[in-house]
Amino acid sequence: MDDAVPLAYRAEDGPVPATLARTATGLRPVINATGVILHGALGRAPLSAAARAAVDLAAGTTDLELDLRTGRRDPRGRTALAAAVPAAAGVHVVNNNAAGLALAVAALAGRREVVISRGELIETTDGFRLPELLVAAGARMREVGTTNRTTLGDYADAIGPDTGLVLRVHTTSYQVVGFTDSPAISDLAALCTDFDVPLVGDCGSGLLHPEPLLDAEPDVTSWLGWGVGVVTTSGDKLLGGPQCGLLLGRADLIDRMRRHPMSRALRAGKLTLAALEATLRHPDSPVRQALRARPERLAARAETLAAWLRHAGIAASAVASRALVDGGTGATADGGACGCRRGWATGADQTVGRAAFGARGCGCVGTELPSAAVALDAMIAAPLRRGEPSVLGRVEQGCCLLDLRTVPAEIDPVLAAAVLAAAAEASVSTLTDAPTEPHGTAAGDTVITAGGSAVGGVPAVGRVPAAGGAIAAADMVTVESMTIPPTAVPNRRAP
Ligand SMILES: *Cc1c(COP(=O)(O)O)cnc(C)c1O
Repeated sequence: MDDAVPLAYRAEDGPVPATLARTATGLRPVINATGVILHGALGRAPLSAAARAAVDLAAGTTDLELDLRTGRRDPRGRTALAAAVPAAAGVHVVNNNAAGLALAVAALAGRREVVISRGELIETTDGFRLPELLVAAGARMREVGTTNRTTLGDYADAIGPDTGLVLRVHTTSYQVVGFTDSPAISDLAALCTDFDVPLVGDCGSGLLHPEPLLDAEPDVTSWLGWGVGVVTTSGDKLLGGPQCGLLLGRADLIDRMRRHPMSRALRAGKLTLAALEATLRHPDSPVRQALRARPERLAARAETLAAWLRHAGIAASAVASRALVDGGTGATADGGACGCRRGWATGADQTVGRAAFGARGCGCVGTELPSAAVALDAMIAAPLRRGEPSVLGRVEQGCCLLDLRTVPAEIDPVLAAAVLAAAAEASVSTLTDAPTEPHGTAAGDTVITAGGSAVGGVPAVGRVPAAGGAIAAADMVTVESMTIPPTAVPNRRAP
């Protein structure tokens, strides 16, 4: 029998909002154990603690656009962005990347032509079709090249007096492999300089600087260095910030966009600007942590959780897993297929698959990262999803996998408690060798017991409910640190 498994949880890291929030919004907290980083249906990037605090502050009256020392206006979100990307002479923030593209087209091309490769007419998440957006923004499309091959000459032939701008799009949501060609960005930029037309680049993923882990993924600084006039990107993808669109590049072009009347209709709100500033100043966002988590550490967490769950009488094991970067964020390092083709979103095991992957649709190409998961009986998937907090895993080969790459380590105990509650509801069959001998607790530990009574001399502030009950989310936030010894949880056998 394993030893007691300590799991620590600090309330400020938690996904569980305060009691008031439960009545103020219909939104329910979800633990993303799908292994999909940047899950569209789960709100893409979860904000860092710094960004959440900034949003809270910005909700009141603040010096958001004022320098209190000088009394002059000082647009904060923009200042932080300019500081984060020194290669950009000008910066502007709008509602999202699509808005950034629309504004670039409206302000720089007007009713003239947008020259774009046929290989870059993409559709990304949620049915967002880039060509339709360009037309809706008032431009005329001038498609060049073919689906798989576009040369510099194709661009040169198309550019003329009617050209408003040349658009280069990073094809996040698919890959063309085989007989392909497209000019280097630096060559395209030089061509545009020769013809004196702006080159706008949709870089998509939101990386401001090169990320060694995602070497296939483009970044704003590199594109600017290669001579792209304006780069547009998303704030809530790999940057790990709030939903917004970032426009960075030549000062004259950014200025034209900022002064365009559409700019007002597309501007970002104060909560967004505050969260963006905080994300830029404290870049260690949950997204970055999920990306950089070491596989050995994830495996150790999976072992700990599985051991603890087994102590509690639940069949659980730690297994190797593959996490996926989604959100329209890039090509596979290994050129491999996305989860869809491995049956994540298709096949018989759709209980969680549909909820977890449906919003993405099949056919995406995402970067896969090695990960670790706790494997449970598939029966538990639905009760987990309906629980409080809700836990989304993914169903694969008859198992419900809880992938830990997308779960902050601090909330492992919350995850464990949610599994217990769900197992009780699902009457998931449990192990026959459930523990019988008590484990000691260290002084000062808060022990979570069935029904919420305390052991170990301190009041219980978190609860694992009696069989069939739901976790009281409001209680969970008050947990300061806790150890869940296996004996605190009753053996839950199928009736
Ligand atoms: C995600 C993405 C978009 C859309 O960005 P939003 O911020 O969702 O509007 C546009 N282009 C590319 C290349 C993308 O990856």
